[in-house]
Amino acid sequence: MKAAIVENGQIVIINRPEDIKLNGKKGAVVEVLGCGLCGSDIVKFRQNLAANGTVLGHEIVARIKEIDSDTGFKPGDVIVSSHHVPCGRCEFCQSGSESMCAHFKATNIVPGGFSEYVFLSEEHLQNVAHKKPEHLTDDEAAFYEPLGCCVRAIRRAGKINTALVVGFGSIGNIMAQALKAFGVKTYGYDVRPDRMAGFEPAQDAVDAVFMTSGADAALDTALKSVRDGGKIIVFSSTPANTGYANNEIYYRELTVLGSYSPTPADLKTSLDLLAAGKVDVKGFSTIYDFEHINQAFADTIENKTFKAYIKIR
Ligand SMILES: [Zn+2]
Ligand SMILES: [Zn+2]
Repeated sequence: MKAAIVENGQIVIINRPEDIKLNGKKGAVVEVLGCGLCGSDIVKFRQNLAANGTVLGHEIVARIKEIDSDTGFKPGDVIVSSHHVPCGRCEFCQSGSESMCAHFKATNIVPGGFSEYVFLSEEHLQNVAHKKPEHLTDDEAAFYEPLGCCVRAIRRAGKINTALVVGFGSIGNIMAQALKAFGVKTYGYDVRPDRMAGFEPAQDAVDAVFMTSGADAALDTALKSVRDGGKIIVFSSTPANTGYANNEIYYRELTVLGSYSPTPADLKTSLDLLAAGKVDVKGFSTIYDFEHINQAFADTIENKTFKAYIKIR
């Protein structure tokens, strides 16, 4: 089967012997229809955080080929799935930090989304896989996992009435739509106001600022825009890895809160929002054939595409 691997700073499609089989394990072998290219894939690729041979990609839409499962999924079902599953029992899971759970970090789809076939464990099927709503296209459904991350960030922010989303890439856009769907009065900020998709700049300080921008300069925007006692939700890495000013946090009683990866409940909400059209991602993706995956990486790095989706079949 064909799979795209990281090799010495390049993405290379290799032909490897078909080795994705159930082999007596519970779970499913799925044919990947396509996979979204995530900002985190780009970070891993550019900063050489992925070892040679790694198959990146985790925002998959796939068709079940072979299955042995206690779930109701059948061969032929088209599904979405994310890649990590929390244990639900450890101290992290019990205290609402599911994405810090050791089991969460250890679980993954095998070998990765940019591959013709993937193995999903029974745990994946039970917790983080769902049938794709029929009226969504594959590239729309691939927003299931990224939107799940946004839902989690909104839930972690707690009770808020007003929010500012900083950075209107595809993630900022769906974060703003999701906030609106949750009933939060939502404003936007981007260095390119034409990307703000109808969201207005905030006139007054807001309860929470959602930082989907990876620009160092955006940190100042957050401190200027959040009200005293408000929250800054950190949702992106920044190149210089600098922090928020200690004394502002102290004197203004700010909360700086990280949010990384979604729980099964956040993912379910994400799919409901997509299915109901409350978060609309029609036309967001540029679709690249598998053999042009390098172009997808290059265009994403150069900011030439809003969201790349790799069509595998
Ligand atoms: Zn992702
Ligand atoms: Zn756990």
